[in-house]
Amino acid sequence: MRKERGLLIVLSGPSGVGKGTVRKELFSQPDTNYEYSISMTTRKPREGEVDGVDYFFKSHEEFEQLIVEGRLLEYASYVGNYYGTPLDYVNATLDAGRDVFLEIEVQGASQVRAKAPDGLFIFLAPPSLSELEQRLVGRGTETDDVIASRILAARQELEMMNLYDFVVENDEVQLACDRVNAIVTAEHCRRVRVEKRYLSMLEGEY
Ligand code: 5GP
Repeated sequence: MRKERGLLIVLSGPSGVGKGTVRKELFSQPDTNYEYSISMTTRKPREGEVDGVDYFFKSHEEFEQLIVEGRLLEYASYVGNYYGTPLDYVNATLDAGRDVFLEIEVQGASQVRAKAPDGLFIFLAPPSLSELEQRLVGRGTETDDVIASRILAARQELEMMNLYDFVVENDEVQLACDRVNAIVTAEHCRRVRVEKRYLSMLEGEY
């Protein structure tokens, strides 16, 4: 039978929400069945980071060449450095029927959404969102300014969620990983995806 194309899974969310921690935990588990797409970056390696494992570390010129040659699925400038996803790797892996997992910031995720609308977009949300109401009205000790800035931050985070299919609260890393895995499993069972395989079988493409 013809091989089903893999699923493109995108994990994103506001800065500081713990995307990297959740991704590292997922990939430290032996039964994780997705391929992590190692990003390109112009940021300098941190202590212990290895080229080709944590990132592909590039110079500014090398990165801009990749942009010009159209070899990135998406890229963004974040805190003074470029970050981007290698297009060839993603396509080859999906074509081989393997799921690809991207852990990227929100500007990049919206580019992927535009280019690959059939991807699975998961928004990692801070637990503060569910605690917000309690914190806002809770003990009544916050000043109006603090409350207003919390409302603004929460509203901006809510607006960012618009582009995503699922929201996973990062209250506890292991729970967040379990939710991501459950979402991916469910997505593979989605009727439109499964139906395609049956139809192609009936059409003799096996
Ligand atoms: P860090 O420098 O801490 O490793 O990553 C900074 C931010 O860049 C994180 O929010 C991370 O998710 C994001 N990031 C990592 N790789 C990529 C990528 O390929 N594309 C985009 N758009 N963001 C990325």
